[in-house]
Amino acid sequence: MFESLGDRLGGVFDRLRGRGALTEADVRGAMREVRIALLEADVALPVARDFVDKITEAAVGQQVLRSVTPGQQVVKIVNDALVEMLGGDSAELEIGVTPPAVVMLVGLQGSGKTTTTAKLARLLRKQGKKVMMASLDVNRPAAQEQLTVLGTQAEVATLPIVEGQQPVEIARRALQSAKLQGYDVVMLDTAGRLHVDQALMAEMQAVADIARPNEILLVVDSLTGQDAVNVARNFSDQVPLTGVILTRMDGDARGGAALSMRAVTGKPIKFAGVGEKLDAIEPFHPKRVAGRILG
Ligand code: GDP
Repeated sequence: MFESLGDRLGGVFDRLRGRGALTEADVRGAMREVRIALLEADVALPVARDFVDKITEAAVGQQVLRSVTPGQQVVKIVNDALVEMLGGDSAELEIGVTPPAVVMLVGLQGSGKTTTTAKLARLLRKQGKKVMMASLDVNRPAAQEQLTVLGTQAEVATLPIVEGQQPVEIARRALQSAKLQGYDVVMLDTAGRLHVDQALMAEMQAVADIARPNEILLVVDSLTGQDAVNVARNFSDQVPLTGVILTRMDGDARGGAALSMRAVTGKPIKFAGVGEKLDAIEPFHPKRVAGRILG
């Protein structure tokens, strides 16, 4: 993850740190390079511009330039700004409510939604929660069976499939049985879509009205870069998303989606998918990710 950005920034910072004194021109030159590195990492242009403007303003301050270690100070300013860009503090799942908490996952087809539902369910089970999953995807043949198979692998219960039921009825049934059987969390895997489409949006809204989710998490493929951010903006205009899960971070050398997501959508990235296996999911910690980028 972020290999090329890390290398580029590392080069800029080594040069800054290597010099005893810094002039405003040195800082501005370095920030131009930071901007190019961000754009090459596929960060959205306005986000890269704002980022660089903000750090330039802070870094050309006399206190920084006159300090004993100006290079270090500039690097620290960039680090702090990067943490903020990635979302600041880690965003936890809001599931500490009167059970059952409802977590609904939405996203485009192929984004990794069904796999992520099972990964997250498994993670919560490992944390001692009693979790049930239900697939509301009645559009794609075998989608419900796919979740059942993953449930078996993840050792998480799935709602029994009733042929012919519509998403709203399935959601209602999932909630009822979770209440009756004392589940802590119900995870709803909704139908995927090829693009942001009105009929499916309406369906998602109807399910949300019934299920009143504590979390509505959008699953997006980080490899699609700026498209992932556009998808998130579209979804977020139509459903009250509480967070984003970025999948395929394991293959994402650039990191543009992760870096632009918060600024463009205002939504926190809550988890990162880092592989195909069911344990390949990590809470998204902006500080750690920034640390990884800056080496
Ligand atoms: P859905 O159509 O959105 O439900 O997508 P699926 O859950 O069926 O996932 C599509 C493919 O992406 C599957 O082959 C998954 O194994 C794979 N996948 C999901 N998440 C990740 C991830 O974080 N990393 C990698 N490498 N593959 C993933």
